[in-house]
Amino acid sequence: MTKNSATVAVIGSGVAGLSAAIRLALQGKQVVVFEQNAYTGGKITAFEKQGYRFDMGPSLFTVPHLVDELFELAGKTPSNYFQYHTHNEVCRYFWLDGKQITLFPSVDRNVEAITTVFGTESGKRVRKYFDDARKKFELTAPFFLESSLHKMKTYLSPRVLKVVSEIPRLGLFSTLDDQNKRYFKEPKLVQLFNRYATYNGSSPYQTPGIMQMISHLEHGMGTHFPVGGMHAISQSLTKLAQELGVQFELNAKVERILLEKKQVRGLVVNRAERMFDIVVCNSDIKHAYHELLPKNMRRPKKTLAQEPSSSALIFYWGIGQTFPVMDLHNIIFSEDYKEEFHRISSNGPFWEDPTIYVHISNRLEVNDAPKGKDSWFVMVNVPYDQGQDWEDIVGKVRRKIIERISSVLGKDIAPLIETEEILTPPQIHSRTSSVGGALYGTSSNERMAAFLRHSNKSSSVKGLYFCGGSVHPGGGVPLCILSGKIAAEWIEEDE
Ligand SMILES: Cc1cc2nc3c(=O)[nH]c(=O)nc-3n(C[C@H](O)[C@H](O)[C@H](O)COP(=O)(O)OP(=O)(O)OC[C@H]3O[C@@H](n4cnc5c(N)ncnc54)[C@H](O)[C@@H]3O)c2cc1C
Repeated sequence: MTKNSATVAVIGSGVAGLSAAIRLALQGKQVVVFEQNAYTGGKITAFEKQGYRFDMGPSLFTVPHLVDELFELAGKTPSNYFQYHTHNEVCRYFWLDGKQITLFPSVDRNVEAITTVFGTESGKRVRKYFDDARKKFELTAPFFLESSLHKMKTYLSPRVLKVVSEIPRLGLFSTLDDQNKRYFKEPKLVQLFNRYATYNGSSPYQTPGIMQMISHLEHGMGTHFPVGGMHAISQSLTKLAQELGVQFELNAKVERILLEKKQVRGLVVNRAERMFDIVVCNSDIKHAYHELLPKNMRRPKKTLAQEPSSSALIFYWGIGQTFPVMDLHNIIFSEDYKEEFHRISSNGPFWEDPTIYVHISNRLEVNDAPKGKDSWFVMVNVPYDQGQDWEDIVGKVRRKIIERISSVLGKDIAPLIETEEILTPPQIHSRTSSVGGALYGTSSNERMAAFLRHSNKSSSVKGLYFCGGSVHPGGGVPLCILSGKIAAEWIEEDE
């Protein structure tokens, strides 16, 4: 640890704020994290009810080494703080006509599974899909995900030349849907691989084909799940931060960021002024500009005009029976995926044909449900909150998903629901200040979305930095951890 007495305030204890706080403490800075909730972790939180445990937010865990890396940087053994299962299945997919397929974290097994279940497909083309996803990931991740797109240095790196020379093959000029149709004849497979658009809250009919690379995270880099559930990510990182001297102030909503002559001075928290040399803002970028920063300051208009990503309705159900046909991650696909996304991106009325995601954490974390029962996290994608009648929508979605899951399982699940909690977009907003309850900051529906995301550093205020799902490189746990890294490294460089 280097000696450096700069004081840093981090606004928010989401996974990005935790990642930044840990790295800044390791730089020797005095770090205070202000969190409006009574708990740390932001979207990565959990609850227990009647013997069932539920993760409330993320359920898919990829790129675990990004979590491990934070412990390693601190000279700790990661497994003393955080452990995870490595699972042998990616996801089980179901269609209403009875078709089913399971995919794996293995290209060979996927080629076999796909060509067996869908006789239309050529093994060579299927293999090419996975190979191309890997190539796109390996080529672009260091540029688009691990570096700032707002630093000249990034563009001077030799790897950028390689990315530029590959642009025609990256799929930047076609949609993910168009791209997937080049690999698969079977519409169900196109639908299956289109679902990777939802990993950042986008539509496969608008987001560019480069998003194919997301599938490599699961099929090429493995499927994992933390011991203790997703909540273990935020809690183990909070523990590490505390051990490194980071102070946490909970129930501490930041009301304003104080500036003087284009330089950060500190914050107003619970009506008191607190002075800091540096502020790292982990809250949603729209919340930061609309609520925390002075109204008369220069704003990145194009960035703030970006559409929020989609949101979700989540039903947490304790189910009084176990269904072995379902695994850790399961998807029951809609019949008209295109119309489903059209409704989501145009904020159309309730769509009666939703795709349903069912996550059953007790497949790996057996104590998450009483013996012989299941802990279900059931989610459908919905538009971000724009004042819709959520009570009405919740009722309609609930009836529809019970009908669909019952049809797939061949058993009425309604009487099996022993306990229930529901999370809506307005609740996600009020718990995390994510505008509209967007899950992943802004959507990536535009080709240039990556370049329109807000930088990790303010261009007009000295000492002000940003991390989290609504800024570069985007939403999802791994990218948020990287955003904390990029912000902390930038602070160090600026010194
Ligand atoms: C239901 C759901 C399912 C998801 N599924 C997945 C998944 O499977 N895999 C995946 O990788 N990602 C998933 N995500 C997305 C992922 O959870 C997020 O991208 C990530 O956790 C966001 O982290 P963050 O650091 O940006 O901030 P957040 O988790 O949004 O935390 C921001 C924190 O800042 C605090 N804050 C904001 N404003 C203030 C203020 N003024 N003063 C004090 N505190 C403030 C908030 O209270 C909050 O704690 C999901 C999200 C949700 C909600």
